[in-house]
Amino acid sequence: MELIELNNVYKTYHLGEVDVPVLKGITLTIGQGQLVALMGASGSGKSTLMNILGCLDRPSSGDYWLDGQEMSRVANNQRALARNQKIGFVFQNFNLLARTSALENVMMPLSYNAEHLTDRQARKRASELLERVGLAERMHHHPSQLSGGQQQRVAIARSLINDPPLVFADEPTGNLDSHTSVEILQMFQTLNREQNITIVLVTHDANVAKYAQRVIRISDGVIEE
Ligand code: ADP
Ligand code: MG
Repeated sequence: MELIELNNVYKTYHLGEVDVPVLKGITLTIGQGQLVALMGASGSGKSTLMNILGCLDRPSSGDYWLDGQEMSRVANNQRALARNQKIGFVFQNFNLLARTSALENVMMPLSYNAEHLTDRQARKRASELLERVGLAERMHHHPSQLSGGQQQRVAIARSLINDPPLVFADEPTGNLDSHTSVEILQMFQTLNREQNITIVLVTHDANVAKYAQRVIRISDGVIEE
């Protein structure tokens, strides 16, 4: 069983009377422990595909098996639970809460999780993750007191708080300078290698794709890998 199996997935958006077909029969598998770049031009359907793979949206037709569970037809609350337990997200704009410390940002996704930790255990786990991304000295800083690269490292720590097997990063270096981008990409490589976390880097940037073991290319809603 692969971690991700997508069979003939279509996604069409409906804007009033107009149908907008975006994904046009996508079939692909991604195994546990892979570091994959999902590449394509702007408008090719990368984010639409990532939203389906990340259980944020469902296909119009076709199947999506995640870790042995068919996700396209399960109820919304089941999908939200699977997303929370199995998937971490990292975004181009970091998406940190501004008036909250790095530590509390990292703890945030825990509150949605059924599995309960005491506040003390939660803080311990979050501070260990911040140490792992090299921010032990910055735990009580707010995002505005951190550089872009440091903010993205907080976001990476946050994505790992529920110990997911799978992390999606949508243009994670899009707002970073080239030196900082390399540090962030190397961090993803280390997480992949040392913890066998499956990582999908969504990008239009061929330099980012160099850090992946495998490149999946999407063009006009079809895979041309
Ligand atoms: P990418 O991430 O590769 O730039 P997207 O998946 O965001 O591409 O978008 C693919 C196409 O789908 C674009 O033409 C976009 O306009 C369209 N699209 C995306 N989201 C929606 C939506 N919610 N409603 C209608 N059209 C959408
Ligand atoms: Mg996009």
